Amino acid sequence: MSTQIEHARQGLVTPQMAAVAQNENVPEDFVRQQVAAGKIVIPNNRMRNPHPVGIGQGLRTKVNASIGTSSDIIDYAAEVAKAKAAQNAGADTLMELSVGGDLDRVRREVIAAVDLPVGNVPLYQAFCEAARTYGDPNKLDAEMLFDIIERQCADGMAFMAIHCGINLYTIERLRKQGYRYGGLVSKGGVSMVAWMMKNGEENPLYAQFDRVCAILKKYDVVLSLGNGLRAGAIHDSNDRAMVQELLINCELAELGRDMGCQMLVEGPGHVPLDEIEANIRLQKRMSGEAPYYMLGPIPTDIVPGYDHISAAIGAAQSSRYGADLICYITPAEHLALPNEQDVIEGVKAARVAAYIGDMNKYPAKGRERDKEMSKARRDLNWQKQFELALFPDDARAIRASRTPEDEKTCTMCGDFCASRGAGELFKHDLRGDKI
Ligand code: SF4
Repeated sequence: MSTQIEHARQGLVTPQMAAVAQNENVPEDFVRQQVAAGKIVIPNNRMRNPHPVGIGQGLRTKVNASIGTSSDIIDYAAEVAKAKAAQNAGADTLMELSVGGDLDRVRREVIAAVDLPVGNVPLYQAFCEAARTYGDPNKLDAEMLFDIIERQCADGMAFMAIHCGINLYTIERLRKQGYRYGGLVSKGGVSMVAWMMKNGEENPLYAQFDRVCAILKKYDVVLSLGNGLRAGAIHDSNDRAMVQELLINCELAELGRDMGCQMLVEGPGHVPLDEIEANIRLQKRMSGEAPYYMLGPIPTDIVPGYDHISAAIGAAQSSRYGADLICYITPAEHLALPNEQDVIEGVKAARVAAYIGDMNKYPAKGRERDKEMSKARRDLNWQKQFELALFPDDARAIRASRTPEDEKTCTMCGDFCASRGAGELFKHDLRGDKI
């Protein structure tokens, strides 16, 4: 059976492409052409058919929320609740990243709880199972790894972050540059680097890349090329090791597309604001404009507790310059496993960032809602303001919690409401949109 990219190349608009076109208000053939060119991907799975979400050039920037158990906190019901909370808060995709407890069980329960496309990182379960089976994660063998990828695909995964781009050459880059300020921060990346160093062998996900693609193609799953050497400190951003892995991932994106697999490329991580644009331009140029999935990025290392805000600032920039999917960051980042409230805050912060980024990515169509909001504020039309708000329930709740004396104003300025006073002064000068 053909994948989305193969159907698109054959000239066929699939139901998923038609749904994406309708959701994004773009022509169906535009989506088909972009999917055929590998510039849009639609995470899918023949066993599950999740809600169709398009990721890529010409479409709204999407937000991913990641949940999952840790080895310290294993609560299946809590992970299901977080998955539902992420969906309700407006996440476009979900990653199930458990590393504690019964990994098959939590994956299946989370997938059953939402209709979003769900992704994961197969290396987590592979190394967990090798540790449980052999007492040593480095005893993982390639057959076990490929079996786990297939099992997870059969459960309904729609996209998989797979660390194919880490190889012996990237480890050499890391050593020759004298390691790093912030070290390595990707769980899957570190585990694979350790496996290669202990076994003295090439990463099987790189050496047998065609096998990875063949499994994912069978289920029509998107292959997201993991960023195992992403910088975990702004001073490591765009260093030689990270750029080396990006270069390999961009090569693999082209190879995977040629094999008929939908391909995403993953990016950092921690990046100062003035390096974000360059990183994105490099990825787009080297990958033939494959969709780019960025983890924020976080532009400073010193705000634990507020990393969702820091990441939103980075993500507004990254989406502006062409990132297509941004992974949320929660207030718990660098501190603890996120709880349900952290998940909600993280999704909302990322949605603000994506919205602001899109206003600049697509200036022709991205600012009308803001103009309408301005007029509603000027006219003290509260109902209209709530209708236009990105999070209307939150806005209503704040206003309702502090009711003003004059219902036209709010308790911020009360009798000194500038909008009310100025509206009276200039009410005969209003000229519709020219104001
Ligand atoms: S009271 Fe102040 S903040 Fe509130 S609507 Fe009037 S001008 Fe705006």
